[in-house]
Amino acid sequence: DKIREGLSKTKKNISVQLNGMFATFTGANEEFFEELEETLILADLGVETVDKAVTRLREITKREGFLKGEDIERALEDILTELIEVGDSALRLATTPAVILVIGVNGVGKTTTIGKLALKFKNEGKKVLLCAGDTFRAAAAEQLTVWAQRAGADIVRHEEGSDPASVIFDGIAAAKSRGADVIICDTAGRLHNKQNLMNELNKISRIIDRELPDADRETLLAIDATTGQNGLTQAREFKETAGITGLILTKLDGTAKGGIVFAIADQLQVPVKLVGIGEKPEDLLEFDGREFVEALLK
Ligand code: GDP
Repeated sequence: DKIREGLSKTKKNISVQLNGMFATFTGANEEFFEELEETLILADLGVETVDKAVTRLREITKREGFLKGEDIERALEDILTELIEVGDSALRLATTPAVILVIGVNGVGKTTTIGKLALKFKNEGKKVLLCAGDTFRAAAAEQLTVWAQRAGADIVRHEEGSDPASVIFDGIAAAKSRGADVIICDTAGRLHNKQNLMNELNKISRIIDRELPDADRETLLAIDATTGQNGLTQAREFKETAGITGLILTKLDGTAKGGIVFAIADQLQVPVKLVGIGEKPEDLLEFDGREFVEALLK
């Protein structure tokens, strides 16, 4: 299925190795746990997260006295699922309108994800309005316009260099008057400096609070999975200032180190909500922790 396909590079790195280990397992020893640790670290789950997972597995193995590979495999599956499911993965968008704000540095896949989401909502029969909140780069609004046309969504955009908060303000007004179900806002990934960017995101956030105080709202941070541990650093910075409600992990298809998803979810304690596994409109999946872990291990 799609998630397996999207994870194929990471699977090569991790599941072949693990399946070999489980196939020859006849009882736990130090060598087994060391090899497991090494495999998980190579797949970029991060030292801390791997340590947590393997410590738990050691405890359970000792308690249960596992002698079969399938038993220890199931225990590992449960532990990894628990680590990656840190809250509700479903998008909370019950109000009309509901708002999705997409944030993250340039090039991580914000615009592409917004386009994919617009199409998905459209196919569910929802009326979608896009807001071109990245006024810093003219190309960003252009690209979003192309996606809007493809998805049959409305779009509100202003001139390059105009105030992003005013685009959001106009977008909300347009959504109200046209009866849109979902407003999806793009934002700049880079301004003159970091403080500037965080101030702007806060300003946008206050506009939404003021204009749509009762609306369901998601602030989704997009992270490029191919950037590995750097993605984690970026995420920490955004989390401190922007009040993230969920994560979008993009480009999982492009990395053999998809284990980064575990490190990010576990260390930020923010739920992963969407994963991108390609450039095509249908290459966006709603995240399911159990399914993700199964696809990775089996
Ligand atoms: P933005 O600057 O954050 O808006 O990033 P874009 O949406 O412009 O995406 C940057 C590049 O990443 C584009 O070439 C996209 O086609 C590509 N991209 C986005 N998501 C994915 C994905 O899930 N998989 C792959 N392989 N490429 C992606």
